[in-house]
Order: sequence, then structure tokens, then C-alpha cells
Amino acid sequence: DKMVSIVGAGLAGSECALSLAERGIRVRLHEMRPQVSTAVHETALCAELVCSNSLKSTKPASAAGMLKVELDALGSRLYAVAQRHRVPAGGALAVDRVRFSKAVDHAVRAHPLIQLMPGEVESLAQVAAGVDAVVLASGPLTSDALAANLAKVTGAGHLAFFDAAAPIVMADSLDLGRVFRQSRYEDAAASPDQVGDYLNAPFSKDEYERFIAELTDAERVIARDFETRDLFQACQPIEEIARKGHDAPRFGPLKPVGLTDPRTGRRPWAALQLRAENAEMTSYNLVGFQTNLTFGEQRRVFRMIPGLERAEFARYGVMHRNTFIDAPRLLDAGLRLAVDLEGLPPVWVAGQLAGTEGYSEAIRSGLHVALHVTSFLSGADAPVLPRETAFGALLAYACDPQTVNYQPMHVNFGLMPPLERPVRNRGARYEAFAARGADALARYADALRSQGLLGKVAR
Ligand code: FAD
Repeated sequence: DKMVSIVGAGLAGSECALSLAERGIRVRLHEMRPQVSTAVHETALCAELVCSNSLKSTKPASAAGMLKVELDALGSRLYAVAQRHRVPAGGALAVDRVRFSKAVDHAVRAHPLIQLMPGEVESLAQVAAGVDAVVLASGPLTSDALAANLAKVTGAGHLAFFDAAAPIVMADSLDLGRVFRQSRYEDAAASPDQVGDYLNAPFSKDEYERFIAELTDAERVIARDFETRDLFQACQPIEEIARKGHDAPRFGPLKPVGLTDPRTGRRPWAALQLRAENAEMTSYNLVGFQTNLTFGEQRRVFRMIPGLERAEFARYGVMHRNTFIDAPRLLDAGLRLAVDLEGLPPVWVAGQLAGTEGYSEAIRSGLHVALHVTSFLSGADAPVLPRETAFGALLAYACDPQTVNYQPMHVNFGLMPPLERPVRNRGARYEAFAARGADALARYADALRSQGLLGKVAR
């Protein structure tokens, strides 16, 4: 009779608890709300959605859609609940947030193998006694006491507390008829072979005015005191800079100095610079565009930037308290913590604390950890999740010790291993990623089934 402690009944913790319990493992699920709340949660329910009610695209030939195929094929409980409480949202899976959380809450409380333990957990040791494994799923707003304990356990510099990142867009979704490659002050005519390191999106005066008007009016993620207090002056969100003064971005991140638009031969009124995110240059960072806009608004407003009309976002910009572990240095591909725990049972990390970003990713990682813990407790090695799957690609990146300056990520095609035969057309390429991922997923599911890890799931 095995027993696991899970800290946090959010998205990852609830999924993990239900997945373990369904496999016959007893769970103590520790949740501090409502006794102690976070700055963004509003209810005492398990699996509360703290901001938007969208779990993103269901289009099979997208990274977010592939992730949903995985959640479905591997029997995710929260995904099934989300399907039942779906509300119309075009090609996305959006849910009635109250019904969704109430249904998860009910499933957790009603399960005979799950014991919900109220109160704040202040240290790993507090939940380790008498259990065979611990799962940390306390999320981006992990309480201060627990964060301090984790910072100590993981060692200096291995726990981040704040995340300010600009959005990243896919290179092949940019309009190369408008966006041009050039570094500031580069004389393109004099040295045509020396292509610049940046792509630039040039604004005309009208385009700039319209963009700034929408930017300053756009809906933001509720910024409570705790968030703005933490902001460094040097790291202001782009919408705040615009609010300070209409032209402020033109003298800041959107300054056009040293640039010549090859289409006009002149300096643009303003310009956004885009910097390659990886050596293959498959995705680009919007330089200086850290932002607090909601994900939907980022999509709407940043697509007004000339050349970004059809931009696909590999990740949205974020600016909030975000506690996450230095995954490349500390987690293996099963999300197990690889540090000396001085006599404590083995520890896994799931959800945003493990350094991924997004609701569906949190649910997926809760399931991934449940599968690994189950294998471990039965003395087996869990099958390796192939890198060709959406979550496998994210883990391969997040848990690779070679990854430097790690920033939490959504699943995205930029992380996928290249196709064996390159496909030029974007739609066809995405289809090829999805088809290859589906094959890899089928093999992985077979391997899980042969260990009895999928068969036992009652759907
Ligand atoms: P959570 O869902 O936060 O669950 C963690 C749980 O642990 C909570 O219930 C918390 O009360 C509990 N807990 C914390 N510390 C302790 C402790 N010491 N003892 C006991 N319990 C504890 N993602 C999206 O896809 N779309 C969005 O719109 C979106 N908006 C976001 C907005 C904000 C402000 C933040 C911070 C994040 C947002 N995210 C969004 C990112 C992420 O997807 C969510 O934060 C998601 O809820 C993460 O899931 P989780 O299970 O890791 O953490």
C-alpha cells in the first residue's frame, strides 16, 4: 500500500492526485487555501483557473492541439472535466471556470484514496514522514515559507521568484515582405553580405499611432500591488512605457535610430526589433516587449505591428511573481528532483514550479509525474516520452543541462526536432509535426500499456 504526499491542489496537483489514486495509490493532497490564499486565487476550490478561462487551441496541427491529443490519449482527468464544461470559443478549448473547478474539486474530495489536508506546508520535511514519494505542485505563487525552504534545499540561485519575459513568435509566421534584417547603424549597401542579427518591423506614423492607442487601452492581467512593487524601473512593461507618454516607446524599445527600411530607403517612424531565440532561427523574441497584457490581448494588439499580422506565438509575454525551479540543472525528464535530500523520500516537481508555463502544460505535467511516480513505486522504469511529442519536446528543452538562461515555456514547434525531410509550406510542416508526434505518442502509449500504466484507467 503506497502513499504519496502532494503539495498544492492546483491544476498539476489535482491531476496528479486523481491519476495516482486511479492507479491504486493513496494520496495526501495538501492545500493551503482557504486558510492562506495567494494574490491571484479567489476561491477555495481545487484547480482554480487564475486568469483566462481558455486552455488554448484544439487544432491538431498546432503545438497546443498536439498537447490536447496527448492529454486525451493518456487519460487526463482534468482534460475530461474540461471537455464536459466546455464553452464555445472557436478553435480553442475554453471552459466555464466555476463548473470546471467545482467538478475537479468534487472528484478529488469524493475519491476514497485521496485525503485532502488543509493548511500551508512550510517545508518538504513536513510532508515527507511516512510517505513513499513527495510531489511539489505549489505553483507560481508558492507560499513564502515553502519557497524559502525550497531555495535552501535546491541551493543558491536555483529557484527563481519573478518572471518578466517578452513574447516569442515563430519565424515562419512573420511577413518577410515587411520585416527586414538589419542591425542598427549597419550600412547594408556597403557590406551586403553582412546580414544583421535582428529583424526589424518598421512602423509608419499612422501605424504607430493606432498601435499605441490600442496598447494603452488593452486589457491587462490584474496587477495587484505585489506585482508592480517588484518591478525594476529598467524592466517596465511596454504598455506602462506607452502610458507614460505617447512617444515614450519611440524613444525606448521602438526607437528607429540607425535603421533604414529597404522598401523606402528611409528611417522608419518607429521600429520593433526581433532577436533570434535559437541557432536555427525558428523563433524570435520581441525585444523590450515584456508585458502584462492578457494572452488574448497580446495576440490582438501585437498582431497590429507591421509584419506580425499573422504571427504565431511560441510563448506570450509575462510579468508576474513566478516561482520556478532551475529545471535544466535540477530535474530529470521524469521531473524528479536530482538533489541530495538527506533521508527524505524522492521528490518530483509538477506544474509551473517545474518551470513550464500554461494551464494545459500544468495539467500535462501532473499526469507525467503521476506516471513516473507509479512506475517508480512498482520498481519499474517509466518509458521515455519521445521528443517528437509536444510535451516531450518541452521536457527535452527544459530538462537539458545544456540549456542556459532558462525561461519557462509553453509547448511550441520551435522546440521540436527538425523534420527528417524539410517541408517548406507552413501548414504542411505543422501537419507533418502533428503526424510524427501522433506516431511517437502511439508507441509511448503502448509502452505505458505494457507496464499496466494505461490499462487501469477507468475513463
Ligand atoms: P496552481 O494552479 O497555482 O496550483 C498551486 C496550488 O498550490 C494552489 O492551489 C496554491 O494555493 C497551493 N499552494 C501554494 N503554496 C502552498 C503551500 N505552501 N502549502 C499548501 N498549498 C500551497 N496560464 C494560462 O495558460 N493562461 C493564463 O491566462 C494564465 N494566467 C496566469 C496569470 C497569473 C497571474 C499567473 C501567476 C499565472 C498564469 N498562468 C496562466 C500560468 C499557469 O498556467 C497557472 O499559474 C497555473 O495555474 C499553474 O498551475 P499549477 O498547478 O502549477 O499551480
